Amino acid sequence: MATTHNLGLPRIGDRRQLKFSLEAYWKGEIGADDLAFTADQIRSSNLQAQQALDWACIGDFSLYDHVLDTTILLGNLPPRFKQSESLSPLDRYFQAARGRSTDDSAPLPAAEMTKWFDTNYHYLVPEFTSETRFELAADNLLQQIKETQGRNIKPVIVGPVTYLWLGKTKDGSDPLELLEQLLPVYEQLLKQLSETGIEWLQIDEPVLVTELEQPWRHALRKSYYRLQSQPIKILLATYFGTLKENLQLACELPVSGLHIDATRAKDEVEKVIDWLPKHKILSLGVIDGRNIWKSNLNALLDWLEPIQNRISDRLWLAPSCSLLHVSVDLDIETDLDPEIKSWLSFATQKLFELEVIATALNNGQESVAHLLADNAKAIQDRANSQKVYHPQVHQRVTQVTQGMTQRLHDFSTRQHKQNQLLNLPLFPTTTIGSFPQTKEIRQTRRNFREGKLSEGKYRAAMEQEIAHSIRQQENIGLDVLVHGEAERNDMVEYFAEFLSGFAFTRYGWVQSYGSRCVKPPIIYGDVERQADITINWIGFAQSLTEKPVKGMLTGPVTMLNWSFVRDDQPLALTCNQLALALRDEVLALEEAGVHIIQIDEAALREGLPLRRAEWSGYLDWALNAFRLTANGVQDQTQIHTHMCYSEFNDIIESIAEMDADVITIETSRSDMALLDIFESYEYPNEIGPGVYDIHSPNIPNTENILKLMRLAQQRIPAERLWINPDCGLKTRQWQEVIPALENMQQAARILREEIASKNRQILA
Ligand code: GLN
Ligand code: ZN
Repeated sequence: MATTHNLGLPRIGDRRQLKFSLEAYWKGEIGADDLAFTADQIRSSNLQAQQALDWACIGDFSLYDHVLDTTILLGNLPPRFKQSESLSPLDRYFQAARGRSTDDSAPLPAAEMTKWFDTNYHYLVPEFTSETRFELAADNLLQQIKETQGRNIKPVIVGPVTYLWLGKTKDGSDPLELLEQLLPVYEQLLKQLSETGIEWLQIDEPVLVTELEQPWRHALRKSYYRLQSQPIKILLATYFGTLKENLQLACELPVSGLHIDATRAKDEVEKVIDWLPKHKILSLGVIDGRNIWKSNLNALLDWLEPIQNRISDRLWLAPSCSLLHVSVDLDIETDLDPEIKSWLSFATQKLFELEVIATALNNGQESVAHLLADNAKAIQDRANSQKVYHPQVHQRVTQVTQGMTQRLHDFSTRQHKQNQLLNLPLFPTTTIGSFPQTKEIRQTRRNFREGKLSEGKYRAAMEQEIAHSIRQQENIGLDVLVHGEAERNDMVEYFAEFLSGFAFTRYGWVQSYGSRCVKPPIIYGDVERQADITINWIGFAQSLTEKPVKGMLTGPVTMLNWSFVRDDQPLALTCNQLALALRDEVLALEEAGVHIIQIDEAALREGLPLRRAEWSGYLDWALNAFRLTANGVQDQTQIHTHMCYSEFNDIIESIAEMDADVITIETSRSDMALLDIFESYEYPNEIGPGVYDIHSPNIPNTENILKLMRLAQQRIPAERLWINPDCGLKTRQWQEVIPALENMQQAARILREEIASKNRQILA
């Protein structure tokens, strides 16, 4: 018999109930009891959703983040959050998560947040010093176990090695030195869990799919040799990729079962079966927890039946990873095209797929014949659908030439021509694209979407916003203006709506961090540009001013990385289709007389594979797609790109190969330390290191901006520097933005004057 289980479910609720409760709690509109009520409801409906499984997962729910929960479980909350004795444990938890317990409480520096492996989920980084001491605080987990009595439940926790690996030491010490301290706490936890009658415990060690140095591999060995003495069965879970050189290690660790990601590491399954000792359970994550397509159940069964014959009762089946990373429930989507809907499967549906597979394996395919037939039909319909395949798109991709990805001339030739055309001063000032998205703007967009506002009225309202932002920028004296992006709800969804091959859900939210969710569009078919996207807005903005207005686009790699992607063709091909569609928009903008075009690649870096050895493969096609989008323009047209991060030291040469004339990046928070790379590497083109941290409501003063720019000047020649904020201003308020940009403009004036007076001295 194959056994079914689950690794985790979304926690936000099918209609983002958790988000709304959290935000109401932070605003002081509801109390802790109300919040706890919402959480209980979500937990119990998650348990309900797992009813048919042999083992339901618990302990995966979190009010904010499961890594922060682990921090609490291990008694590792940083001391700065322990000071205010008046705070309840819940408020202390939120203080660590967001820097403040409620919206009007005094702020503290929140724990750092970063991406969970290669997902778009962010976790709160554990903090360590060599002084760190751990202490078990398992009440919360034990309470949850008590509430679910009578069910076959399998709690899940983050493993000790992954926990240390995810954290950062604040004093430069080695986190592994804490392992010896940490293991007794895990031992104690395992013991307490076994005393409640828990038979199986899932311990997540996704570090096993990364390139691990020897001490980390050793730490895994040491940990599980220690933990094996506890009277509980451990299912060691890995996910998000292949085990490669860690495969043998993973198989040999003394645990009772091993879970592997059988969607991304399917080719390793045979080898794992060979290596895994015969008394161990093998859990195969066969349902893709990272994407929203229906599984091909018949193909899966063909593949699984011989495996089951080989390992029989030792076979467990599950989703590849926690279903946290997919949308919650497809059934509540009422607006999706029914044909496309029939190809999809969200978290709830994925658990059902699992059930069907297990039933077919255990009771014979006949027992679920009609379900398998339905599935076969859906898979076939998708493969043959007119909606998916557009031959002309494929043909166009095959006709892409090397030349299409290259500018006509080198940067210095272009720079000369661009200077002549644009005639910008030294240290040109600009912004990253968006201006404050006020309540009125959102309401106008909503009214239009719901049919309450005519197209003409909507356009007039948006034009008024554009005129307002152009006026503000002219008053400040900025050199390169933007239209402000008032018409955009989201930088990916807005563009996707003008492209073929994209579908949009209403409730398909996925948690990004805490109460923040994103709703990735679904790329189901070949992508082509259906109509002009930005031309009218930019054209209107340009008609109001003598200053150049930047065209503003989202790049192909970001469109791809922030969507649910096709699994029926290589990512590189989908990315090239996106690139051609956006190239059409770039050329149309140029044709319409727009001289500066910015192509945002906010999400380029996050597509990097978990293993460094695979980086170059990704960068090759991703950067090529950017170049295909951008580089069809004339020398005079200035291409900008923007990236929302600055840790690109390790990919700086690839970034330079994009050959954008100007790149704007995020650097302000690190006092330009992130520009250190430019001491050893001469970035060839122009660069705007963000001098205004838009993530904070604080208004940067001129002094500070000057300080940052002087640091930048030590590394990059003045002729190649721009001055700009570090990201778009949509989340800010006008009353913050105007003085901040005035200070930025003032800093530019001072810098220009300094250079001019130096030049005068040289002449004299
Ligand atoms: N142009 C976008 C904006 O200004 C860029 C946003 C981003 O980089 N995330 O909002
Ligand atoms: Zn940005």
